[in-house]
Amino acid sequence: MSRWWVVLAGVGVLVMGSGGCVGPRAVPAGTIVTPVGTFVVDFEVWDEQMSGLLLEAVPEAARALERWGHLEEPVRITVVWNHAALEEAVGRRLPGMSAWARRTQVLLENPRRWPLPPGLEQDPTLVAHVRRVQVTSLLRHELTHSLMFQLAGVPPSDPEGRIPFWFREGMAMVTANEFSHWPPPLTLAQWLDFHPEVNLLRDAAALVRTDGAIAYGGALHGFNFLLRRCGDAAPLRVLAHMRTGQRFPDAFQAALGVRPEALASDFDRFLRWRGFAPAPTAPARASPGGGASSRCP
Ligand SMILES: [Zn+2]
Repeated sequence: MSRWWVVLAGVGVLVMGSGGCVGPRAVPAGTIVTPVGTFVVDFEVWDEQMSGLLLEAVPEAARALERWGHLEEPVRITVVWNHAALEEAVGRRLPGMSAWARRTQVLLENPRRWPLPPGLEQDPTLVAHVRRVQVTSLLRHELTHSLMFQLAGVPPSDPEGRIPFWFREGMAMVTANEFSHWPPPLTLAQWLDFHPEVNLLRDAAALVRTDGAIAYGGALHGFNFLLRRCGDAAPLRVLAHMRTGQRFPDAFQAALGVRPEALASDFDRFLRWRGFAPAPTAPARASPGGGASSRCP
């Protein structure tokens, strides 16, 4: 049975999630304990309304991470006042981004600064609902980054640069169920028709600077391709090998028996041959990567 409890910042109220009685537990104000791990929420500039929103959204977002296991260290979620403060805290320009994840910290631009769909401002109830959905979805994504960095990382540095873009963003996007946000496989395939030299997984890091939506869509569906072929245990095995100090390609090979380039080639063929389309007569073609060469052990 899932059970979580929250200490509301500033008021010290213990809220039980479900199930039987849990005795008093000494945790700092703003601390949220979930089955996945512990989170600490703090604000650069106190915001009562956003604090309430986060204390509801964090446990909800954390549930999506349960498929990958548990955090090994608490994650601090720090809300900064605006986008300029976020860029200053990260130390780089972050166009179009509202958050930044590290192994034990997520920096979050105050959600009240985020853009809303046009015409929504007149309906406070709808605004509150949309904000809740936005924040929960983004936290699923960012907290997945923290989790993967913890699983793969060799402290104190984050292994962000050691995990390729498609795996790093793909795992976060799949966990946050962002399939409706990014181009579907057919759009990727049509784009590839005009770019025969590009491999969406191999070239993702460069592609994100020129065709961001295609790069993210490729990462999302590429990572999902990996899961459908090898299961949820596959990325965890890769991260576990990275934890021993192996580089990503070697960890991938050790965990799955194939080089990442082989998966990238299979995914490329899967898209270009429209392997995602329903097969009218041959059921075997409906499986991802039909005709592909690499297989999980
Ligand atoms: Zn991300």
